[in-house]
Amino acid sequence: MVRRFTNTKLLLKKAHKGKYAVGHFNVNNMEIVQGVVKAAEELNSPIILATSEGAIKYAGMNYLFSLAQEAAKNTKVPIAFHLDHGRDLKIIKQAINMGYSSVMFDGSNLSFEENIKITKKVVQWAHKKGVTVEAELGTIGGKEDTVEAKKIIYTNPEMAKEFVRRTGCDFLAIAIGTSHGAFKFKGKADLKQDLLKKINKTVNVPLVLHGASGVPAKVVKQAEKYGAKLSGVYGVPNQQIKQAIRNGITKFNTDTDLRLAFDAGVRKIIKTKPKEFDPRHILGPARELITEVAKERILVFGSKNKA
Ligand SMILES: [Zn+2]
Repeated sequence: MVRRFTNTKLLLKKAHKGKYAVGHFNVNNMEIVQGVVKAAEELNSPIILATSEGAIKYAGMNYLFSLAQEAAKNTKVPIAFHLDHGRDLKIIKQAINMGYSSVMFDGSNLSFEENIKITKKVVQWAHKKGVTVEAELGTIGGKEDTVEAKKIIYTNPEMAKEFVRRTGCDFLAIAIGTSHGAFKFKGKADLKQDLLKKINKTVNVPLVLHGASGVPAKVVKQAEKYGAKLSGVYGVPNQQIKQAIRNGITKFNTDTDLRLAFDAGVRKIIKTKPKEFDPRHILGPARELITEVAKERILVFGSKNKA
């Protein structure tokens, strides 16, 4: 029997009420899925597994869907499955029909009216199948897979209110100063917490923050020790994440931290065990480091024991 994923909207509504956030973790292969799910199990936390269009291009939608479904089948913790940064309407439709819990339509590169028009269309398709929709208003800085923005355009609270009302989207990604990737800030993290508070007051759906990776120093240090060149990487400090949760964020997208963990894990083995060439011995430690980093994120998000 096919086990359905948990509905993303239900997870987020519960989180909103309980004043914690749920981690969205981007997955690209089996080791990342297993590493993240193990973290959720060990901390008894709900999670959202997500695939970007880039991940789908790399691994195939069917493969990733099957991996996530296998994980959901064999665990007690709630797992939602989400399409991240959907821009290709064909891929969005496929995801809806395949049984994703939720899809994101990223119209942040479009005009306000065009973004509303297409988001509304996606919402109509998705809701018919019981799938929920994340939309984006404003522009998150930096680059992630196929999505790139040269500068941050902050989300306007009144426009956000109108956007949610007219599109019927279920949760909304907003721009309050974060950027995708590991090179987020020059100097220090600058999240507009007051703007977030205002948006949270005007908008009545759960809010999502992209580009808020922690870039854990320990992992960066390990990667650099074994050859990575990462000078200048900078993440969002945990205190600011916690403050953002208090101010209304209920979903945090996490990709960069997992990539860094994977990289650090693989580099260490390659460098310290030059005679090793068994993929299991090379990727196994990376999977363990993914679990460690995902657990740290879950603890910061406050979703431990919320499964
Ligand atoms: Zn993103």
